[in-house]
Amino acid sequence: MQFQQIPAFTDNYLWMIESLGHSWVVDPGDGQVIIQALKKQPSILDGILITHHHADHIGGIGDLIAWVRENQGHDLRIIGPDKDTIPHKTQTVYDGEIVEIFTGVHLQVLEVPGHTKGHIAYFLPKIAGVEVPRLYCGDTLFAGGCGRLLEGTAAQMYASLMKLMQLPDETLVCCAHEYTLANLRFATAVEPTNQDLSKWTEEARRLRETKQATVPTTLGLEKKVNPFLRSDQITVRESIERYAKKVVNSGEDIFTITRLWKDSFK
Ligand SMILES: [Zn+2]
Repeated sequence: MQFQQIPAFTDNYLWMIESLGHSWVVDPGDGQVIIQALKKQPSILDGILITHHHADHIGGIGDLIAWVRENQGHDLRIIGPDKDTIPHKTQTVYDGEIVEIFTGVHLQVLEVPGHTKGHIAYFLPKIAGVEVPRLYCGDTLFAGGCGRLLEGTAAQMYASLMKLMQLPDETLVCCAHEYTLANLRFATAVEPTNQDLSKWTEEARRLRETKQATVPTTLGLEKKVNPFLRSDQITVRESIERYAKKVVNSGEDIFTITRLWKDSFK
């Protein structure tokens, strides 16, 4: 199997999954960049996987439907969540559901509300042809950060991130934006003494200086550097208590204050 990461707009990443001349695309906010990719490396586009309803994730669906009808002579499967409105959706998927995208290749659906009410993620486990598992998590988990709470609650987002933490450490976190440097600046404010974080920040800066992607990272790295996955760490708790000027006990409360702090962080 092959995996492509296609930049779009100013900082989005669209993801393609390909096998034996067939392909799927995750969150095509821009249809044209996908059409270009399909012309450059021809494959039959079988369908679209959508994580949530924001325009930069769904904006290209119409163009892709039309192009595939005209050039490949079939209709796309369009898979998406229940609680977000997705145009042209042909199949609604729920938490724990398994989706077969190619013969013998199954994605696991995880409901991860918080950024939006219906946000879902797709997990591709390690199987023949997939050396490293992959998580397509849209705007839920980012390298060094997490999505804003536009529709859901902090409690929902905390539970969603805890759910993603159960996946294997080697999992590649295929998120939808290149927000890493800004996220790491905030992470460093929370944990100025985290050595893994300072090392990764240097590396990420080097990558960005030469216009390279910092994404995907791994879940294992995120557990070491991402403050939103580190509510159980004493360093994060002490920092959050200093910021909030009060004692904070539960992981969920620490997460909630971390998210609020990030929202106003300059
Ligand atoms: Zn979004």
